[in-house]
Amino acid sequence: MRRAVYPGSFDPVTYGHLDIISRSANLVDELVVAVLNNCHKTPLFSVEERVNILLKATEGLPNVRVESFSGLSVDFAKECDARFIVRGLRAITDFDYELQLAQTNRIMNSEVDTLFLTTSLEYAYLSSSTVKEVASYGGDISKFVPPFVVDLIYNKIWANKNR
Ligand code: ADP
Repeated sequence: MRRAVYPGSFDPVTYGHLDIISRSANLVDELVVAVLNNCHKTPLFSVEERVNILLKATEGLPNVRVESFSGLSVDFAKECDARFIVRGLRAITDFDYELQLAQTNRIMNSEVDTLFLTTSLEYAYLSSSTVKEVASYGGDISKFVPPFVVDLIYNKIWANKNR
């Protein structure tokens, strides 16, 4: 079984992530989308919420599984018995960081390779933080995330403001 792990914060998932998910799912038997539980960041959505959003957004993709993890991606890949870690590259700015990460991972576990997919051009500018920033000013985010995620983001921002 050819299995890959696609780790990230996915706070929340965007059309850019979904593009990488559907394209990499075509390359392997099973893709595990792995939501990082990062105690150093304060996310908009809890890890459980991010997992549920991804479950719904990937409903139509039968060989995609969604899990959460904490710690190192290579350790999680090993736990899942995955040979590949998938990462998306948007611009040269991603490249520096991603190359360093891939090389470090390779030193930690030489049995896991990083597979890079370049972004589809229409999503090259897109990041979860941009989506949150635009939404916080009431901007239109319907081109960036699926409709049900648009509602969840606005509800969450509204709830945070009224806390
Ligand atoms: P992280 O906090 O690990 O960067 P993200 O959720 O921001 O997690 O991203 C996970 C992965 O998806 C990273 O490899 C990132 O480069 C990639 N990615 C994010 N947005 C896009 C996009 N619009 N197009 C292609 N890849 C993307």
